[in-house]
Amino acid sequence: MRRPLPDIVRAPWPADAAEPPSATSAAIDRAAAIIRRGGLVAIPTETVYGLAANARDEEAVAGIFRAKGRPATNPLIVHVADVAMARSLAREWPDAAATVAARLWPGPVTVVVPRSAAIPDIVTAGGDTVALRCPDHRLARRLIEVADAPLAAPSANRSEAVSPTTAHHVLESLGNRIDLILDGGSCLRGIESTVIDCTTAAVRILRPGPMSRQQLEAVLGSPVLWPDADADTTTTARSPGQQQRHYAPRTPLEIPDDPIERVSTLLAKGERVGWLTSRVDDPRVRSLAGSRDVLVVPMPHDPDGFASLLYATLHALDQRQLDRIVIDPPPVTEEWRAIRDRLGRAAVSPLGER
Ligand code: AMP
Ligand code: MG
Repeated sequence: MRRPLPDIVRAPWPADAAEPPSATSAAIDRAAAIIRRGGLVAIPTETVYGLAANARDEEAVAGIFRAKGRPATNPLIVHVADVAMARSLAREWPDAAATVAARLWPGPVTVVVPRSAAIPDIVTAGGDTVALRCPDHRLARRLIEVADAPLAAPSANRSEAVSPTTAHHVLESLGNRIDLILDGGSCLRGIESTVIDCTTAAVRILRPGPMSRQQLEAVLGSPVLWPDADADTTTTARSPGQQQRHYAPRTPLEIPDDPIERVSTLLAKGERVGWLTSRVDDPRVRSLAGSRDVLVVPMPHDPDGFASLLYATLHALDQRQLDRIVIDPPPVTEEWRAIRDRLGRAAVSPLGER
């Protein structure tokens, strides 16, 4: 079924205002009405834009899977307005989840806990656990409150594509497949939440993200495990839907060990190259940047800054008719782990295996 293009509704909420401007309240009311009748609304969060539906409504959630082309085996994260709502969706509320929720919510960390009967099978891909998160974005939380519904919301893009960090990215990817886009500006964090498993004695990271292992260990007071017995991959049985290829732009993306050499070779072959690098002061980079066929994008040196710009940069380069996107390999340190995870899935071949 084709629908008309969704409206993008601007919904600003100035940081110093306790309540939203009246036009933003009206936009939230409109979005809430769509959620209540089983529709799909794209919403801003601090991580990326989410494609939201009432998590208690099986039919509405089915619409998310259809709009995204998402495999039914990939469970969804349910967004809540507060800890009380989270607890109402959990059969048990493990100590680790209680601590993380009390200390780090609202924020970019998702807890996996035993699910209650309020959550339909389709949300969890049939599993006995549910992933819950309270987003650090007032528009998202207010919508949950006004609609009086927890929101199942994966990233608001077609499956496997780069996640959206602006309302415009959502429109490009999902266009007439959804009912409304709430435009709350650019997402601050820029990559998807950290997902942790709270159902076992030791907390394990299922998907690395903006909330670091050190931050989690600091609040929990105990060691937090990496995915899959500390291997540098996030493909674990407990984290369904973490496909190897994901987050990919249309333009082939490479992370060569020696980007300067690789870009030189590509240019010599006549390719047009977009190059994300933090080394714009390197004279060899500057000399290559003089070529008409290369577009050099200077990237921040810190992982948080890098994350906040990464997807927006990939979206922009995807519009430029390039043959190739090259990215400098990120440092092999813990604080870059979430970036390495996303880039490894976006690249044409896995990181470190060329
Ligand atoms: P996305 O909504 O696209 O950011 O992806 C959500 C991710 O959260 C999924 O791909 C899973 O890896 C993870 N997830 C969601 N629900 C569960 C669950 N019940 N158990 C384990 N991982 C989950
Ligand atoms: Mg996604």
